[in-house]
Amino acid sequence: MPVAVSSPAAPAARTTNAPTMRALVKASPAPGLDLIPDRPAPLGSTGRPLEPGPTEVLIRVHKAGVCGTDRHIYEWDDWAASRIPVGIVTGHEFVGIVEKVGSACTRVTPGTRCSAEGHITAWADYNSRTGNAHIASDTKILGVDRDGIFADYAMIPESNVWPLDPRIPDRFAAVMDPLGNAVHTVMAAGVSARTVLITGVGIIGLMAVTVARAAGASRIYATDTNPARLALARKLGAAAAFNPLPESKGGDGDRWIDAIKRETRGDGADVLLEMSGSPIALDQGFRALRMGGTAALLGIPSRAPTFDLTNHVVFKGATVLGINGRRMWETWYQMENLLTSGRLELDDIITHELPLAQYRRAFELMQSGEGIKIVLDLNGPTK
Ligand SMILES: [Zn+2]
Repeated sequence: MPVAVSSPAAPAARTTNAPTMRALVKASPAPGLDLIPDRPAPLGSTGRPLEPGPTEVLIRVHKAGVCGTDRHIYEWDDWAASRIPVGIVTGHEFVGIVEKVGSACTRVTPGTRCSAEGHITAWADYNSRTGNAHIASDTKILGVDRDGIFADYAMIPESNVWPLDPRIPDRFAAVMDPLGNAVHTVMAAGVSARTVLITGVGIIGLMAVTVARAAGASRIYATDTNPARLALARKLGAAAAFNPLPESKGGDGDRWIDAIKRETRGDGADVLLEMSGSPIALDQGFRALRMGGTAALLGIPSRAPTFDLTNHVVFKGATVLGINGRRMWETWYQMENLLTSGRLELDDIITHELPLAQYRRAFELMQSGEGIKIVLDLNGPTK
């Protein structure tokens, strides 16, 4: 996005009377984020602030979800330092209102309440042209590769906008990006009338519990090292939830794998949804998966794990699916159907809503584990 990013606090914006906005910016290559009060407003491809190019849309952001990705950027870990351009506006999960549309836009109009797919592609590569735009080779991610949505305004392609069903409340609409990860994983694996093991019940793992339940899973099992998350997984519909830590550390050791096998005629779970990125969970999850089962992997290990490919995949005859992003737009239609069915329970997962100015508190709540999903309020309700 052609926004001036050289100096987020550039005084030039004031001297030229160019419009400005509030924005949460990665202002320096170090931990933290800065709330800039006078960030130059986004330029359209017109080169003019707040003026969308023919196929662009200007959106006023109302509420925004704080993602684990944002936490990586906030903490400035190795991944963030290697990927994130300093000066970028962060954030990618939101609900907002379309303020202006470009001359060639056909689907949305000013006033449209919307969220958006954060993976932006030129729709030109092999995958974009064959129904797999979520893994396009030219993908640019909002708030990662280009300016994001922790700001009063964002400029994005009309093709990425998802007009919202009025039955979907703002706080749910603001988290459709991670919910889409959960829905994509659950739907890719196929859970109807199957036993499902979810390893790792952080934000997306917990969402996967309620999605799998709504999608007709027969019994859901969850593992995590956080007792409060395990309790919430049970509340959301998990038949049993286990702590995989060794018994000497207060966990269930490996006993839970036997417990799942006892409940499944000795076979193991039909489906594994790996949501933790933990090499231990990966190993245990495949041990608890039945022969010929399906594993959908969303968790990202911090380094290449050691993994028993021979027994866990080859001899097991397992189907293994890598899950990245959300399918455009199948996952979004599925999300809409699930959200409007009233069968998803997200209220206990979205634990806090804070004003933008309290963004540091949002990250502290995530870091301490006290908060699960946190929504920042930028411009109040959409209506
Ligand atoms: Zn996200």
